[in-house]
Amino acid sequence: MFPAFTLRYSRLPERFYERFEPVPVREPRLIAFNRPLAEALGFDLAAFDAEEAAVWFSGNVVPRGAEPLAQAYAGHQFGGFVPRLGDGRAVLLGEVTDRDGRLRDIQLKGAGRTPFSRGGDGRAPLGPVLREYLVSEAMHAMGIPSTRALAAVTTGEHVVRGIPEPGAILTRVAASHIRVGTFQYFAARGDIDGVRELADHAIERHYPELTKRKGGERYLGLLESVQARQAALIAKWMGVGFIHGVMNTDNTSISGETIDFGPCAFMEQYDPQMVFSSIDEGGRYAYANQPWIAQWNLARLAETLLPLIDDDTDRAIELATELLQRFPERYEEEWLAVMRAKLGLERAQPGDKALAEALLAIMHRGRADFTLTFRRLADAAENREAEASLIALFERPEEIAGWLEDWRQRLAQDLWTEDERARRMRLANPAFIPRNHRVQQALTAAMDENDYGPFETLLEVITHPFDDQPGREEYTRPAEPTERVFRTFCGT
Ligand code: AMP
Ligand code: MG
Repeated sequence: MFPAFTLRYSRLPERFYERFEPVPVREPRLIAFNRPLAEALGFDLAAFDAEEAAVWFSGNVVPRGAEPLAQAYAGHQFGGFVPRLGDGRAVLLGEVTDRDGRLRDIQLKGAGRTPFSRGGDGRAPLGPVLREYLVSEAMHAMGIPSTRALAAVTTGEHVVRGIPEPGAILTRVAASHIRVGTFQYFAARGDIDGVRELADHAIERHYPELTKRKGGERYLGLLESVQARQAALIAKWMGVGFIHGVMNTDNTSISGETIDFGPCAFMEQYDPQMVFSSIDEGGRYAYANQPWIAQWNLARLAETLLPLIDDDTDRAIELATELLQRFPERYEEEWLAVMRAKLGLERAQPGDKALAEALLAIMHRGRADFTLTFRRLADAAENREAEASLIALFERPEEIAGWLEDWRQRLAQDLWTEDERARRMRLANPAFIPRNHRVQQALTAAMDENDYGPFETLLEVITHPFDDQPGREEYTRPAEPTERVFRTFCGT
């Protein structure tokens, strides 16, 4: 069933991880399986059998060639440094080479207590597993770099999170699980060789073009490349109203993928200060803070790389600082590219930023739904009469009507036909996102009634985010006041 493993992390020095076998579970049952992803990873599905798959994806049997381990990492959690976190409940089976020749980690999340578990039970409840499955697959379908969900199983055991909940295990696929916090783990121990070895490994995996570079240039290049990927990633999050919720350095991937879907949520009414996570009391990870938190996390990565950048610490700091200071500019470029696509603007013009910001300000004052506003703007690009349904989203219709006039004047400077523009806008503005109340409903049905129908339907809907899906209009609707989700929980 499993493709051959191409072990890499397991070949790194012993102090990078703890060897650890998944702890068997009582009664594994396969509840979700991502067939297209499995095919892309080279799984042999000819004799696929759900019962057998449940045994593999629970970790009850370790596939041949895998060398399971728990990775060591540290991290700043809400700004406070924890020198030893590590995989407290995740096991890396190993890497496989996918059909495109890319190396992919296969990890079981919720696989039992590891040497990094501290007080935790090493397990995952069903709710968070299904949430990660839905949201990570939705992100991928929207063209946003993300870890993927390959499979989910229930364990037949309970985990206690206040109340007993069904236990589950998620099989997660990632370009790698190397985080800013992985670098911090070695740096905090003064283990410069460890940082170098990790950096070389990350470069080989994610930024092979840097392998030609020598000395400090190579590690400064790593910082620059990670910065570029993070800037692009956060701009994409902002473009769909995604709020990660726990942008700790241990949840910041070196590959530039979205990783760890805890209390994440999608904004409905536009509000830049929006926070959902119950543990984010200070609003550190509010929607509008995300780019600046990414920059802060990059500064923590830079600190770990200083000894590799230059033997002269002052010089290393100068080089890294100069680079980090370019983040805002880089981010703005990425953000503007996202916004131009959303607004249907063909060629860059000096007033584009102001036009985008004006719309957001009007959306904020008008309490307009983020996703519907942009999707209906695509309709309005094609058909002026569709403006009415867009304007209806706003509490202050006159403001948005005025903005639409400005927008139409701006569109006149481009060459695209109306059809072409509308077509492109529909590919930049999803109709279907995992709306929080829908996710909640899907999780509740699975947990309380063992009914996976809502989960399966929602997954199908949100993995085709840009298609008009006749008959599925209900899924484009924001929450009614009684359905609204105000708080999300880590639930780990
Ligand atoms: P997370 O909130 O999932 O990003 O995890 C933060 C840290 O807590 C990581 O080191 C996890 O491995 C650890 N952790 C989270 N949940 C558990 C659990 N149930 N058992 C053991 N460790 C956990
Ligand atoms: Mg994490």
